Amino acid sequence: MKRYYNAIEILSPDEKEEWHAAVKRMLKICEDANNKEIGVLIDAEESWIQEPVDALTILMMDTFNKDKAVVYNTIQLYRHDRLAFLKDSYEASSKRQFILGVKLVRGAYMEKERKRAIALGYPSPIQPDKESTDRDYDAAISFAIEHIHNIAIIVATHNEKSNIYATQLLVEKKIRQDHKHIHFSQLYGMSDNITFNLAKEGFSVSKYLPFGPIKDVIPYLMRRAQENSSVSGQTGRELTLIKRELKRRSK
Ligand SMILES: Cc1cc2nc3c(=O)[nH]c(=O)nc-3n(C[C@H](O)[C@H](O)[C@H](O)COP(=O)(O)OP(=O)(O)OC[C@H]3O[C@@H](n4cnc5c(N)ncnc54)[C@H](O)[C@@H]3O)c2cc1C
Repeated sequence: MKRYYNAIEILSPDEKEEWHAAVKRMLKICEDANNKEIGVLIDAEESWIQEPVDALTILMMDTFNKDKAVVYNTIQLYRHDRLAFLKDSYEASSKRQFILGVKLVRGAYMEKERKRAIALGYPSPIQPDKESTDRDYDAAISFAIEHIHNIAIIVATHNEKSNIYATQLLVEKKIRQDHKHIHFSQLYGMSDNITFNLAKEGFSVSKYLPFGPIKDVIPYLMRRAQENSSVSGQTGRELTLIKRELKRRSK
């Protein structure tokens, strides 16, 4: 974790200047969010650009998350080193006395990560199989809920089992649905059945809505389309639910 705090030491003078400009912009965003009582969720990206994102996010959490969670980092559990990173982040947050904000995701760049690792001849950062990703994802939920007093969690998944697992743990540990450190999120246009049922049970939920220049948004939507076709079982079920609801409404 020390390396995230010392990240700047390895930069060239030009890079240092860029870094300071980025820090300044982030400080402004987080300050405004803090004043308006909204959260800032920083997305996780490809592993080869993630380190500065982590460093910046940890810096912002250290500044703004003293009394409440304003800033959230994203942890991709399809990476085999990220459960350990979650635990390290928690240790750092305890030492520096800030609330750790985490959005837990499985990860969106699996193919790209694997291809690049093969092309450049380094070990892939991605788990060997889906089961390993699922195991670490649920372990991360469990670890975060275990430390819910110091970790603010966003369970960001369309996976029914993981959503149910999180709600069961909360019930088991007698943690209220409206605890300010637990929140669920799905992408806009996906898994409304999950979002709806969580909200109905009193959990805090949101839909993640992408917006921005077409050149950025189209690749994002393409990734979602590919994912939808790869999770055939769940998407098929969702389609059946939508058809059933349409029929009900048209009656
Ligand atoms: C609110 C929200 C915010 C998000 N923000 C981000 C973000 O900031 N950064 C980001 O990268 N993604 C983000 N995602 C996308 C997320 O990482 C997943 O790609 C997506 O949600 C599908 O995973 P799942 O848990 O919903 O469903 P599942 O269908 O249970 O899981 C599919 C995922 O499992 C993993 N997987 C599939 N096959 C294998 C395999 N063979 N080996 C190892 N792992 C495998 C992949 O990560 C795949 O995307 C976000 C998703 C949501 C809902």
